[in-house]
Amino acid sequence: MSDRYTSDFVEFLCESPGVFHAVDAIARRLEKAGFSRLDERDPSWNLIPGGRYYVTRNGSACIAFRLPEGRPSELRIMASHSDSPCFKIKPDPEIESAGLVRLNIEPYGGMLKNTWYDRPLGVAGRVLICEDESKGIEQRLVYPDRDLLVIPSLAIHMDREANEKAMTNVQNDMLPVFADGPKKEKFLEIIADAAGVNSPESILGMDLFVVNRQRPFVWGPEDEFISAPRLDDLMCVFGTLAGFVESAGQNSLNMYCVFDNEEVGSRSRQGAESTFLTDCLERIRESLGLTFSEMQAAVQRGTMISADNAHAVHPNHTDKADPVNRPRMNGGIVLKFHAGQLYTTDGVSGAFVKKICRDNDIPLQTFVNRADMRGGSTLGNIANTQLSISTADIGLAQLAMHSSCETAGTRDVGYLVGFSRAFYA
Ligand code: ZN
Repeated sequence: MSDRYTSDFVEFLCESPGVFHAVDAIARRLEKAGFSRLDERDPSWNLIPGGRYYVTRNGSACIAFRLPEGRPSELRIMASHSDSPCFKIKPDPEIESAGLVRLNIEPYGGMLKNTWYDRPLGVAGRVLICEDESKGIEQRLVYPDRDLLVIPSLAIHMDREANEKAMTNVQNDMLPVFADGPKKEKFLEIIADAAGVNSPESILGMDLFVVNRQRPFVWGPEDEFISAPRLDDLMCVFGTLAGFVESAGQNSLNMYCVFDNEEVGSRSRQGAESTFLTDCLERIRESLGLTFSEMQAAVQRGTMISADNAHAVHPNHTDKADPVNRPRMNGGIVLKFHAGQLYTTDGVSGAFVKKICRDNDIPLQTFVNRADMRGGSTLGNIANTQLSISTADIGLAQLAMHSSCETAGTRDVGYLVGFSRAFYA
C-alpha cells in the first residue's frame, strides 16, 4: 500500500530535475494555493494581515509565509534544501577525445560517484540570454526532455580491480560522452534551442548541471518503496510544502523555507547561512509595523524544524548504525541527535516534536551516529547562526544517500505531510 501523496510526489520529482526547476515547481504549487509572489527588488512589500506570500532568491531558494490576522505570537518555520549532488558543466564545455566529444564538468556536492556510470543523463539549469537589446538580459530555465549524455565505465578486461576500487577521478575518468565526431559546438545549439533562442551567441551566461534522467519508480509487494534521483532532500521539500499549504494558521507566523547549496556547505547568498530568512523577517516586521522587541519575542517563543533526510539502517550493513537508535523506511519521522551540535535537537525541541507526533498518531523514530562515526551535516545548525531560535532536526529514513538514485519508503511522505500540517497548526 503506497501513500495517497505518492503520485503527486512522483510528479513533483519529475518537475524538479535541478534547483531552479524545483523552486519553479514549488512556486506553481504556492500560486495554486493562493500565495502571492513578492519581489526582493521591490522596496515596498504591502503585506496584509492574514495574507499568504512567497519570495524566491536566485531562483533556487524560496520562502513562503502565512501571516496571522493579528500580531504574530510566535514563529513556526520548516526548512529543507533544494539541491542534490550532481555535476556542474564548465564554460566552453565541449572537449574531444578518441574521435568523440565529451563535456567538461566538475562535481557539485559529495556524491557516490560510481552510481553515475552507464545511465541516461540529461542537462538542467538556467541560461541568461540577450536577444533583444531593449529587454536586456533575461533568464530562462532549460531542461531538454531527452537523454543527452552517458558516462561510460571502463571494461572489466581493462580494469581488473574495478570491483574492488571504483574509478572516481571526475576530470580523468568521468567526463560524459556527448557526441560522435569532432567538436562542433552542437551542445550549445541544443541548449539555445531549449531556451527558445535562435543562436548560441545569444547565451551570455549559464548554470547548467548534469542530472540523472532515471524516472522515479515505486516498488515492493505493496508498493512500499520509491527509488528516484534527488530524494534527499526533495522528499522533505515536498512533504513540508504539502503540510504548509494544507494547514490553517492560528496566531503564529508560519514560514516555509527551502535553501540552496546545502550540499556544498550552505555558504552562499541563497544558502541556510545567508541572510535570506532574517531579511524576510525584517521586511515582514517593517510592513506589519511590529517593534524589534515584538518580533524578537515571537522568534524566542517560536520553533524551527530543519527537515533533511536521514539514514535508514542498511540491511546488508547493520553494523554501520547505532545499536539502539535504528531508523527504518516507512517508520515515520526521524528525530536526529548529535552531541557535537551538527543536529540542533535538544531535550526541549525534541520534546516538542515528540508531543506533535504523539498527539497526531504519527510514528517517530530516532537517529544518532555511531559514537565512532562522524556522520553528515545539514542546515538547521547553520541557519541557527543567522536566526537564534529553538530548532529540531528531523528527516525521513532512506538508503543510498547521495547515490544518483536513492531509496525511501512511500508511506513516510504522508507521515511528514501530517507532521508538518500539525506543526503549523
Ligand atoms: Zn540533505
